[in-house]
Amino acid sequence: MSETKNVAEIFGMDSFNDTVMRERLPKRIYDDLKKTIREGSELKPSTAEVVANAMKDWAIEHGATHYTHWFQPMTGVTAEKHDAFVSAPTPDGRTILEFSGKELVKGEPDASSFPSGGIRSTFEARGYTAWDCTSPAFLKHGSVGTILCIPTAFCSYTGEALDKKTPLLRSMQALNEQALRVLRLMGNTTSRQVMPCVGAEQEYFLISRENYLKRKDLIYTGRTLFGAMPSKGQEMEDHYFGSIPESVGGFMRDLNDRLWRLGIPAKTQHNEVAPAQHELAPIYAQCNVATDQNQLIMECMKKIACSHGLTCLLNEKPFAGVNGSGKHNNWSLSTDDGINLLNPGKKPHENQLFLMTLSCIIKAVDLHADLLRWSASDVGNDHRLGRQEAPPAIISIFLGEQMEDIVDQLIITGEATHTKKGDVLHTGVSTLPEFAKDATDRNRTSPFAFTGNKFEFRMVGSSDSIADCNVVINTIVAEAFSEAADRMEAAEDPIAEAQMIIAENLREHRRIIFNGDGYAEEWVKEAARRGLPNIPSMVDAIPALTTPESVEMFERLGVMSLSELAARQEIAYEIYAKTINIEAHTMLNMAGKKYIPAVIRYLGMLGQSMTQVMTACPDADVSAQRELILECSDLLSDAKNAMAYLEVTAQKAAEEDIETSARLFRDEVVPAMEELREPIDRLEFLVDKTYWPYPSYGDMMFQVGQ
Ligand code: ADP
Ligand code: MG
Repeated sequence: MSETKNVAEIFGMDSFNDTVMRERLPKRIYDDLKKTIREGSELKPSTAEVVANAMKDWAIEHGATHYTHWFQPMTGVTAEKHDAFVSAPTPDGRTILEFSGKELVKGEPDASSFPSGGIRSTFEARGYTAWDCTSPAFLKHGSVGTILCIPTAFCSYTGEALDKKTPLLRSMQALNEQALRVLRLMGNTTSRQVMPCVGAEQEYFLISRENYLKRKDLIYTGRTLFGAMPSKGQEMEDHYFGSIPESVGGFMRDLNDRLWRLGIPAKTQHNEVAPAQHELAPIYAQCNVATDQNQLIMECMKKIACSHGLTCLLNEKPFAGVNGSGKHNNWSLSTDDGINLLNPGKKPHENQLFLMTLSCIIKAVDLHADLLRWSASDVGNDHRLGRQEAPPAIISIFLGEQMEDIVDQLIITGEATHTKKGDVLHTGVSTLPEFAKDATDRNRTSPFAFTGNKFEFRMVGSSDSIADCNVVINTIVAEAFSEAADRMEAAEDPIAEAQMIIAENLREHRRIIFNGDGYAEEWVKEAARRGLPNIPSMVDAIPALTTPESVEMFERLGVMSLSELAARQEIAYEIYAKTINIEAHTMLNMAGKKYIPAVIRYLGMLGQSMTQVMTACPDADVSAQRELILECSDLLSDAKNAMAYLEVTAQKAAEEDIETSARLFRDEVVPAMEELREPIDRLEFLVDKTYWPYPSYGDMMFQVGQ
């Protein structure tokens, strides 16, 4: 474990951040680069040259031997290909360490094996990475040495986005343009940029590496595919916010240290609801920076866990029967001069800009609930959403009492005249300080909740990149802003028009607002009555990408073209089908090679010992052994039949075209997997533990020491 250092001293040490740039770049170059970062103006090659040189010197001084264009292909994880700084040897056999402006700005990593959804065929494999200068370059240290990582976007020869970052940057640009139009029309003359800010809370599990390495399902799929519930799960709620076990503490300390060095402001850490589950939240940052940071957080978690004899599980549902992991995407809109458009202020009913922003978000979420649902879908998340542990699969917005009251006033009269105030909190203990309560309570069951000055999108899966959900939120809000701006521009009195738009947005889209219990069965019925989409699984969410409404919006705002959307759709089906196929085969493998032979061995032992008992003592009552043998044999036969059925079902599903295949995997293979799991999990209760071939749930969830 590393020594505790003064956090302020180490913070950002491994990041080529603003301070380093100001120190190391000539003022003219620094100003030029900042202009590009701020205004998106084109970067001059001469500027890039100087920046590259300074970056190289800084990296080499910190021990770097290589650089890489770090990018985020559509697999959802990050990719890198290292190039050493060495150049061709000089005549005297030495090398000069080089890194040019061109190498900084553009890369051509070939990388033709990443999924492109048909955008790119391997015979015309050109793909380029382009420097995203709005996200700081950083150093990665590891056994491979120190690598300078340059955040980049990844595009095809024809300029189509092959990654998750390009659409994200485009969506931020679209949102900026449309939000600025609204700001100007509403009288703001000072702000020059509007950017989405994001803070992503990350949940994860930690188990011992020794146990992890014994479980084929965890190794191949990231989640357990078999496992009976231990006698104790999360019902006592004694893990949540509990004191952090020492072994986990060491991990957290090293993780924070690594993140702070990278300039990632890791802030909050605690135990989560399920045994062995934890959470980390950083301080929010500009949307694309937060997305890069979240990728790094996940990567660091995995690496650092290993060095502590632990394994970090980021899958949405590592263990059946206890809560899975998610990621809360906190989102707000902020201007370069410090206005948070989602800050209601003291008198929200008079804050027209806030009300416009709020009403546009409500409209956007209602119109594109299906897209938002898609953005939170990944294979693992199908096990969480709508299962009383995460928001339902129905999108709705929680506003809270105070905002809902204002919305009601606006809907009824077209005008809001007052704001409900929060009370003072009375604890009944005179020595405790009294303080003002928030005007609004929390609602943990809502997928999209207003939490005072931001929205919290609570549906995203723990292993997922937050790029997709932010592309969707940014774009749908940009669309609502653009429609408002169009109307205000055409109106004689834009401010009066704005008031009408706010009331209209709320009136027409109030059905999306729901402040009640999202876990309740009645909500499912009520939502259906309101006509809100209820999309239970990833496979059903995928088509949202290419509905006429989605295509029109993404194309008009310049975020994604039809072919880019279709590519993402195809990749999503493919990921679903492949993931389930791997899970199914992992189950077959575990059952065939370990569980079934173990049960047979156990049965053999039971049979033998029963015979021995009967020989030694013919009058002994061996009904218990007999029953056990019968019960185990029945379950064994069920398991064997289920294996045969799973095998043919998976094979049949894999033969179809990609969409049909994904549907078959969901409709037929997933239930067949459940049929195999059931007898094996029941056998786990019956079979002598010494015969059981894999660590149990209890071993994994309760063995990360205290
Ligand atoms: P909670 O009360 O749910 O724990 P916090 O206020 O601690 O929420 O914040 C949770 C996350 O939201 C953190 O990552 C935090 O940085 C982020 N966050 C706070 N304010 C904003 C904001 N204005 N915009 C975006 N994210 C924010
Ligand atoms: Mg939260």
